[in-house]
Amino acid sequence: MTKPVSICVIGSGYVGLVAAVCFAEMGHSVVCVDNDESRVKTLREGGVPIYEANLPELLKKHRGHGVEFTTELGSAVERSDAIFIAVGTPQGDTGAADLSFVEAVVSEIARAITSYKVIVEKSTVPVYTNEWIRRVMQRYGIDHALFDVVSNPEFLREGTAIVDFLHPDRIVVGAGSERAARLMESIYEPITGGSYYTRTDALLGACSSETPAKLLLTSAQSAEIIKHASNAFLALKISFINAVANLAESVDADVEDIAAGIGLDSRIGHKFLHAGLGYGGSCFPKDVAAFHWVAQQQGLNFELLQEVQRINDAQKDVFFNKVRSALWTLRGKKLAALGLAFKRDTDDIRESPALSVIKRLIEAGASVTAYDPAAMDRAKEVLPPSKQMKYADSAIEAAEDVDAVLILTDWKEFATLDLAELNRAVRFPIVIDGRNLYKPLYMAEQGFTYVSIGRPAVYNAQQGKPRRLIA
Ligand code: NAD
Repeated sequence: MTKPVSICVIGSGYVGLVAAVCFAEMGHSVVCVDNDESRVKTLREGGVPIYEANLPELLKKHRGHGVEFTTELGSAVERSDAIFIAVGTPQGDTGAADLSFVEAVVSEIARAITSYKVIVEKSTVPVYTNEWIRRVMQRYGIDHALFDVVSNPEFLREGTAIVDFLHPDRIVVGAGSERAARLMESIYEPITGGSYYTRTDALLGACSSETPAKLLLTSAQSAEIIKHASNAFLALKISFINAVANLAESVDADVEDIAAGIGLDSRIGHKFLHAGLGYGGSCFPKDVAAFHWVAQQQGLNFELLQEVQRINDAQKDVFFNKVRSALWTLRGKKLAALGLAFKRDTDDIRESPALSVIKRLIEAGASVTAYDPAAMDRAKEVLPPSKQMKYADSAIEAAEDVDAVLILTDWKEFATLDLAELNRAVRFPIVIDGRNLYKPLYMAEQGFTYVSIGRPAVYNAQQGKPRRLIA
């Protein structure tokens, strides 16, 4: 292995924490900084602040050896060669990314720097942020020879973040200087050279010593755009299939068959062609908006991105109308909500379509009992338990005596429910599935009225097909 690099990761959220433990796993010496004192205390005391597969194991393996946690940014910067900024870049009022956390961190780095450092943008940022970071450093009087700024966007997916980081499709490094590029190459060398994959304790994934991770060197501007364009394209695929789903439904076609037929084309691929409630989470909504804003700043109207957002927003209306059509009126209705996280395998509820649907149903007078395998604690912070909002300890408990069961997150657990037990638990056997986890005919055979996205609804014999759906 190449010489271990001293790395500072600023931010211990979904990206920073994963990056920190993965760099330690590659053999580097990492200090992870956060200004959230309680989070740092949790991490120091052996806690795991987020739900993420393999994270508890890697934290246990490296905490106190390869990775340490601190609130002291200055000293962490001083003793590191590469400083990764992994703080939040939330959506601002105009759609632009709010870069105030990044700016605050850069100011602190400037106050601490005494020797050459590579400052790495890991957070998702608009094009030219590298230039702004340089300017802020210069404003603080830091000699340009003392630092380089590099863009190294992160492509991990929550739920599979650790494996994604150690077995990436690609590593993108946008560097303006040879010196910075060489340091970045040496940081990723264990996975680009393949030595990591020969270790007996290596986490398994798509890469191997024969097919190691690929690193693409670009300019900083190109790297910044690669991240925004990648997320925008994935969001576009989701909105595209949702638009197709609505068409499919109106002509009694099945969007799942259509997606399979489209996805078999190797130029298109089957990933991200899942019709449903639309995308959510802390990345796609804000990154599509920020990319649109970036284009606007350059005098370009990237209208396609607005349409992607419009379709995504409308998809929640589509689902809400399905619930109303199935139940006629909502006031006083009792509903089970299966899922709160924005997608499966995470406790992240930021921009979760599940939460916006639940809020709307409550506003319409329904009461909701929710269950999620990982996200209930976080959800209770934004939707506290009340007369209309309850939380259950299992999917079946949530479904007890309800007028309908709503599937809002694609957890595997919800795709493998004991349907006989579910049928016994509910008052009326109606399932409205925003994630297309079941086959309609199978659900009808199990005695359910089953409404999903982009597929014909099926009705159980007792319920009967209504003559006209009220939208
Ligand atoms: P997060 O909100 O989970 O974590 C950010 C962390 O930064 C928090 O713990 C916060 O306390 C800390 N922080 C904020 N200001 C700080 C400061 N001045 N000093 C020290 N710590 C500070 O965010 P995240 O989901 O990890 O996302 C971070 C960035 O990575 C964003 O730009 C996001 O768009 C991008 N990204 C996220 C994902 C993802 O799946 N979450 C994937 C790829 C890229």
